[in-house]
Amino acid sequence: MTPKIAIIGAGPAGLTLASILYRNGITSTVFESDESPSARPQGGSLDLHPQTGQAALDACGLTPQFKKYARYDGQDLVLSDKHHNRLIQLKDTETGKPEIDRTQLRKILLDSLPEGVVRWNEHLVSATEETLTFKTHVESGFDLIVGADGAWSKIRPLCCYVTPFYAGITGIELVLNETSSKHSEISALVGNGSVFAMASDDGRGLSFQRNDNDTIKCYAWSRRPEHWVKDGGLNWENRAEVCAVLKKDFGDWSPELTRIIDECDNTPTPRPLYMLPVGIRWPSQKKVTIIGDAAHLMTPFAGEGVNMAMADGMDLAEAIIAQPDNIAAAIREMEPKMCERATGAAGIAWENTMLRFEPGGLKRTEDRFKRLFQKTQGKAGDDTH
Ligand SMILES: Cc1cc2nc3c(=O)[nH]c(=O)nc-3n(C[C@H](O)[C@H](O)[C@H](O)COP(=O)(O)OP(=O)(O)OC[C@H]3O[C@@H](n4cnc5c(N)ncnc54)[C@H](O)[C@@H]3O)c2cc1C
Repeated sequence: MTPKIAIIGAGPAGLTLASILYRNGITSTVFESDESPSARPQGGSLDLHPQTGQAALDACGLTPQFKKYARYDGQDLVLSDKHHNRLIQLKDTETGKPEIDRTQLRKILLDSLPEGVVRWNEHLVSATEETLTFKTHVESGFDLIVGADGAWSKIRPLCCYVTPFYAGITGIELVLNETSSKHSEISALVGNGSVFAMASDDGRGLSFQRNDNDTIKCYAWSRRPEHWVKDGGLNWENRAEVCAVLKKDFGDWSPELTRIIDECDNTPTPRPLYMLPVGIRWPSQKKVTIIGDAAHLMTPFAGEGVNMAMADGMDLAEAIIAQPDNIAAAIREMEPKMCERATGAAGIAWENTMLRFEPGGLKRTEDRFKRLFQKTQGKAGDDTH
């Protein structure tokens, strides 16, 4: 019997799962809130790791497509202090973790599925084990419901009542377009890869990331109270007001690094970071599971979120393919593996979240990067984010 499977969310986790299932003769239905594939920008660049993100794409049969879009020179990396003294510089070094933009990742996963598998503009409002309630209708009769619906999953409460909590750090996203012609100094500073600039004393950081399409993204990180974005008195529609606050906060940083505040092409967007507890798990359910951020939301400072999400999609697909008539057993086998793997990654992410923003954190981050590079003989470890 082919199981009837509902996947909530067409992010990396849900699409990986749907793609591998389809390749193996099981057509699922993916319900996605977005009105269309192009309804909103998908975000920045991601490095896919060999054992997780890349292995998952391979299981989808998408390695050639990945190679077409992967940016191998995106592995260049600089760690600097706030005066732009370069402490670590990796150039033309093969770390095994090329970058790909989220938009392209979503595109290649979507292209692997036939029309109709992803149902757009389907926002899940609530769920039970038996029914999925969308804005305009109800769906039922599924053998398996998979919550791949990210941080604020509507499916998670069917597995456990744990909710995400604020991680103490808020990023403000700055974007530069047409960088080679309009922003050539910052373009040269960022090069092909990433620049992480940290202070050892003021709880702040700037991370720059080369994206495809001559674009650069930067996050200005700071320790902030949880409701600062809403209650901090800033008008987030007012670019000049937000940039003025950023310029004050980063006032004693190198102008080479902070010129992005003046030059950014967007109205800066706040990104408060939330996470689930490191080590989260739950008793397995018979016909419901959660994967990706829905299962183990973590901060981005290990660069593992998307890799974990795709590995979860792969593991769940393989478990279902191995025993399509016994969904409960497939869930039971997959979940402990997923939770153990995510616990390791989330532990690194949390350690980095504290380390990067505490006094002395820059030095310890530098030492950590160096140890990782030495240990892997020039290959970057798993937490260079
Ligand atoms: C600022 C920032 C930077 C990051 N940088 C990195 C990085 O460099 N490397 C990395 O590995 N990870 C990074 N991450 C984490 C990464 O984005 C996530 O771990 C990854 O996207 C998780 O994939 P997912 O499929 O589980 O969830 P998502 O990507 O969140 O996808 C969930 C999907 O479900 C849909 N959805 C949500 N609710 C509903 C609903 N009710 N009904 C229907 N559909 C719904 C959403 O529209 C979305 O398409 C970053 C995160 C942030 C916030």
